[in-house]
Amino acid sequence: MDVNYRIHKSKKRKKTISLRIQSESEIIVSAPYFTPAAEISRFIEEKQNWIQKTLRQQKDAALKNKTKEYQAGETFLYLGQAYPLEVFFEPFESEGVVFSNSRFYLNAREDTELRKRCFVSWYKKKAAEYFRQRVDLYSRMLKSQPENIRITSAKSRWGSCSEDDRLAFSFQLIMAPPAIIDYVIVHELAHIREKNHSRDFWRLVESIIPDYHQHRRWLRINHQLLNI
Ligand SMILES: [Zn+2]
Repeated sequence: MDVNYRIHKSKKRKKTISLRIQSESEIIVSAPYFTPAAEISRFIEEKQNWIQKTLRQQKDAALKNKTKEYQAGETFLYLGQAYPLEVFFEPFESEGVVFSNSRFYLNAREDTELRKRCFVSWYKKKAAEYFRQRVDLYSRMLKSQPENIRITSAKSRWGSCSEDDRLAFSFQLIMAPPAIIDYVIVHELAHIREKNHSRDFWRLVESIIPDYHQHRRWLRINHQLLNI
């Protein structure tokens, strides 16, 4: 596997070197500004097993999620469960997706882009309802009230918190298991109180989601499952 390492040296970073898998061919290493090159190489060397294992797991997850064609019999995820799709075309009924009795029903003509749009809009609607409820719950626990919540189509970021406490979440998260969604929500709500990833920030996340490490890992490995 040909992996490209990009080194970010930062004057703000004080002590630790860290490593992030950006894509299967690019890994970003962040290090304090004056870290010697040899130390960075040694760090990457030490992490080789972890890097190779994570890349392998990502590949397996990607293989499991074939490109959707929006045909009957395919399965689609909703809150971590896969449900089968039935397709029909009733030109006089409104097009779109209905979820009922553990099945997806899609009314749309044979047009992949249109069918995809139907799913995206269903997922966005469900995400808006679901996220609002969970944000309500956790914002009371964390005593951090967001200005508002937005559902986005962002592919590279699951959630964000702006300087003025506006939260955004990718609709794709509604496909993930509830525990993963809760982790992302708590993560962004914690940013209302801590606008960084300091130790205090992670302590705050941990006070609500003690096994958050596992959820971060799940997202790192399975993010391609959430593509439609
Ligand atoms: Zn964050």
